[in-house]
Amino acid sequence: MKQSPIVSRTRELLADHNLALKKSLGQHFLVDERVLERIIDASELDVSTGVLEIGPGMGALTERLADRAGAVLAVEIDGRLIPILRELFADRPHVTVVHGDALQVDLRELMERHLGSAERRSVVANLPYYATSPILMRLLEERLPLDRIVVMIQKEVAERIMAEPGTKEYGSISVAVRYFAHVSWVCSVPRNCFVPRPQVDSAVICLRIRREPPVSVRNEDLFFRAVRAGFAQRRKTLTNALSAAFFGGKRKEELGGLLREIGIDPNRRGETLTLEEFARLADGLEQKLE
Ligand code: SAM
Repeated sequence: MKQSPIVSRTRELLADHNLALKKSLGQHFLVDERVLERIIDASELDVSTGVLEIGPGMGALTERLADRAGAVLAVEIDGRLIPILRELFADRPHVTVVHGDALQVDLRELMERHLGSAERRSVVANLPYYATSPILMRLLEERLPLDRIVVMIQKEVAERIMAEPGTKEYGSISVAVRYFAHVSWVCSVPRNCFVPRPQVDSAVICLRIRREPPVSVRNEDLFFRAVRAGFAQRRKTLTNALSAAFFGGKRKEELGGLLREIGIDPNRRGETLTLEEFARLADGLEQKLE
């Protein structure tokens, strides 16, 4: 069977540089033109946009980002790929390739330095599976100056992020991501769209960052602690889960009273609570913890 140009190019680059891919770094390269197009369309780029790409790999997505955006900052952890990327983009001064770990480098400073003159900034990336949640949560929790995040991630994680209360996929990541962003599904991506082929399917989702959170909470840290506690032991009632997480297994009656006061049945399970109910709960708990 004849290989598509993008598959041949990826294989050639690997062979030319004698590179063995590292599965531990999630190195599965996207070789499907249509999926690349879907990612680019969902990113709604123009010359006034600066893009941060995490994990450019062999530069297939980077190239398309460079065609549309005003500036591209690509952060790659694998030092072996840096000279390849720098050579590929040598004649495109609006593309900067940085060698670093997206979980460690100072993203705010890098964005200010390389994307500072853009009117708006986005993250567009095919994220490594092993670090999807920490990278996403870092981008959101640090409140980087971003308009949107378009990412390809493992399909199950995308489903968890999109899940509604009361479903088995609903978890703390569903609540946390929605606190920071409006989420939408872009497309599913079967595993045969990558070289080498991973053992899981992927999906692309788009997060449009909210200017203000959808609920107001008095203490954000406590809100996220309450969310984590609510999902920590799924079979426990909310009263038991909160008592275990906040009061060493004690003060259950008092917690039951608090839950009733704020209109939440103490026998419900954490995984049925909406974002708004978690916010009410966090504000109620704050008084008990004073
Ligand atoms: N963007 C390319 C594509 O779509 O074909 C490659 C995507 S591949 C799934 C993930 C890339 O992220 C790899 O190039 C890997 O080396 C890089 N990577 C893994 N962990 C990283 C980290 N912590 N920081 C930056 N890059 C990372």
